[in-house]
Amino acid sequence: MGPPGAGKGTQAKVVAEHFAIPAISTGDIFRANVAGRTELGVKAQEYMDAGEYVPDEITNAMVRDRIGQPDAGSGFLLDGYPRTLAQVDELDGMLAGHDVRLDAVVSLAADQDELVARLLQRAQIEGRADDTEDVIRRRQEVYDEQTAPLLEVYSDRGLLVEVDGMGEVDAVTQRIFAELEQSRTP
Ligand code: AMP
Repeated sequence: MGPPGAGKGTQAKVVAEHFAIPAISTGDIFRANVAGRTELGVKAQEYMDAGEYVPDEITNAMVRDRIGQPDAGSGFLLDGYPRTLAQVDELDGMLAGHDVRLDAVVSLAADQDELVARLLQRAQIEGRADDTEDVIRRRQEVYDEQTAPLLEVYSDRGLLVEVDGMGEVDAVTQRIFAELEQSRTP
């Protein structure tokens, strides 16, 4: 977890590779569907372009399908899911159905203003003209309103691992591994 631009996707790929499990990124799946102009992509795009969350029913059904696939059978890392309290409930149900549990929830903490600067720079480099400051700020607001409350939920469950997400990619990765190692139950 972490606010938009905190580097979730980048770190998720490294951590998943280390544990030889798939990184399941809801954002990536949505973007692939938008690019492929699938029915799901058409439904998701307007929300994504506005910086809003795709409705829970659509997102939950997609994740349910994905974690039921064979490559997720020996573990997986979720990148960008759950993002709402309703998604937490739904995920709890899915995990119970597969008789698996979460080992840890990693939260990348980052300074919001610095993130806006980072995202604007990325938009320029990648030619994502739709990534305007307004949309970026809206994504942050949505994160604060709908996703930040999940930190307390997972903290109460003793699963939350908080990591400073600022600085070099490699340095953040090392922090994540160090914290995960420490949080491991004996
Ligand atoms: P991300 O790359 O993770 O920032 O996701 C990009 C966009 O996809 C988000 O701004 C949302 O519009 C949508 N999205 C990704 N994950 C979720 C989710 N768990 N719930 C709702 N919308 C999501």
